[in-house]
Amino acid sequence: MGKRTKKVGPTRGFGARYGAMVRKRYIKVVTEMKKTHRCPQCGLTRVKRISVGVWECRKCGFTFTGGAYTPTTKLGIVAKRAAKGVAVKEAVRTKEAE
Ligand SMILES: [Zn+2]
Repeated sequence: MGKRTKKVGPTRGFGARYGAMVRKRYIKVVTEMKKTHRCPQCGLTRVKRISVGVWECRKCGFTFTGGAYTPTTKLGIVAKRAAKGVAVKEAVRTKEAE
C-alpha cells in the first residue's frame, strides 16, 4: 500500500488546529491517562480512569480518587502527607504565597 497521511494519535481529529505545541502536550497527557496504571491495593497494572479523578482497578475492583489525568500527582502526595499530620518540609509553593 502507498504511504498515506501520518496518523497523529489522540489529536487525529484536530486536523491542523490548536497549534503544534498544544497538540503535542495533549498527546502526552492523553496517552498517560489512557494507559493502565499500577493499583495501590493489589499492585497490578490494571488501573483505568473512570472519570475525572476517579480510578478503578480492573483486577480487584478497588476504586479510588487521584489526579484528573494520572492516578497520582505530586501535589496529591504532598496533600496526603499533610493530611496525615506529617510536617511537610518541602512544601509546594502555591500561587497565593506570591
Ligand atoms: Zn487492584
